[in-house]
Amino acid sequence: MNKTYYGKLIFELSKPGRTGYSLPESTMRNHSMDELPSALLREKPLGLPEVDELTAVRHYTNMSNNNFGVDTGFYPLGSCTMKYNPKINEEMAALKGFTNLHPAQCECTTQGALELYWEVQRTLSEIAGLSAFTLNPYAGAHGELTGLMVIRKYHEMRGDTGRTKIIVPDSAHGTNPASAAVCGLQIVQVKSTADGTVDVEDLKPLLGDDIAGMMMTNPNTLGIFEKKIPEIARLVHECGGLMYYDGANLNPMLGVCRPGDMGFDVMHINLHKTFSTPHGGGGPGSGPVGVRAGLEEYLPNPQVVKNADGSFSIRMNEQSLGAVSPLFGNYAVVVRAYAYLLSLGKENVPLAGKLSVLNANYIKECLKEYYKLPIDGLCKHEFVFDGLREEYGGDHHDAGHVTTLDVAKRLLDYGFHAPTIYFPLLFHEAMMIEPTETESKDTLDEFIEVMKTIAIEARDNRELLKTAPHSTPVRRLDDVKAVKEPKFTFAML
Ligand SMILES: *Cc1c(COP(=O)(O)O)cnc(C)c1O
Repeated sequence: MNKTYYGKLIFELSKPGRTGYSLPESTMRNHSMDELPSALLREKPLGLPEVDELTAVRHYTNMSNNNFGVDTGFYPLGSCTMKYNPKINEEMAALKGFTNLHPAQCECTTQGALELYWEVQRTLSEIAGLSAFTLNPYAGAHGELTGLMVIRKYHEMRGDTGRTKIIVPDSAHGTNPASAAVCGLQIVQVKSTADGTVDVEDLKPLLGDDIAGMMMTNPNTLGIFEKKIPEIARLVHECGGLMYYDGANLNPMLGVCRPGDMGFDVMHINLHKTFSTPHGGGGPGSGPVGVRAGLEEYLPNPQVVKNADGSFSIRMNEQSLGAVSPLFGNYAVVVRAYAYLLSLGKENVPLAGKLSVLNANYIKECLKEYYKLPIDGLCKHEFVFDGLREEYGGDHHDAGHVTTLDVAKRLLDYGFHAPTIYFPLLFHEAMMIEPTETESKDTLDEFIEVMKTIAIEARDNRELLKTAPHSTPVRRLDDVKAVKEPKFTFAML
């Protein structure tokens, strides 16, 4: 990249008096300025950058080239399902009929938009084996909170107010205990067995009449299918609690098995993971929440319903837990998910899940001679390595051993996004890999080759890894300093 632009802020490119336009002098008096009290007027000019149009274009284009996205390369970020976002979804979401809608518009003019919403609710209900869905929550974590509020409402309506605790496995995603805490529930942790699944014997003594429910992820955050869910669901139901399914990992189960059939009562789905809408950088996302029969009334307002005559209405339901977002959540994300569902079709939805499992197992098997695999056997859509094997520099007893961070940084030199590292917390050197179904075998093979090369480099040239990355715009950043002393502004002279 050209030195003139490289690594500079737009303020540093600014030259006094330089502009990207030229207009004739205004002949109108500036009335609005005259009307403002002088105490409110700025004393000095704002100090906005002054650049020509070409400099502005190059600045932003170069900055975007420093970004890594699923559209630029392989992004095996475990627990995030960074699958390709088909561009047809974008085209559909950009249709004027959707983008020009006003949420307060009369129902008589929005029948198509409501029908789409209702169709997605219905399709998700079918995929999940549940009775009804709301699409109002904004993200996975927001869906968890909404789902837990449904559970709380259910107990409240039965006059059962003593259920203040929720059971969460030690392998859970961090959002689970966080959402439960926001919902005012006390978290009770249940341990995992050596094979990475929930320990039923550890669970039994925790169950009682103070338990509101249990949250589970399946496959769990280690990518392992929880085989004992029917038994766990029976135990939790017997003590009066409900089962919550964190559906962020629904991808490998798509069209193969359904949370509702396993005994879950409430769940959320991440449209921005499983249903291929873009994510990263904080949104916009969508975390629909589904419930089994008997809990539909508690879903948040507003609700979209189909009338007997085939028309669609917005309903404000008195039994509802209230609103979790103004109006209909992130509507355009729902449009994208609908486009994705329709393009795959009923026949191909199950293929997505199966291919994601095949791809993950293929990488795991090809690399387990090089990286430690703490839990062997079939995984689902993702798996966890515990750093490099001893013979490739990963020996923990050796003070200068090559860490997961070193491997992740070296991967950047080869043009790949790093996997999720140091999560889940169950292993010291966790490296969580999720390829998704949308990658070709060629890409998977290239990634496998690079991961093998890095292992050999770690064995033969440790320094190369310790000082990686070598080819990125910035080298190793001080993460702790970045968090503790973040700089969000440019100090102007
Ligand atoms: C991503 C994820 C979440 C949280 O979803 P957000 O949309 O990021 O809030 C929850 N649980 C699991 C297992 C996840 O992978």
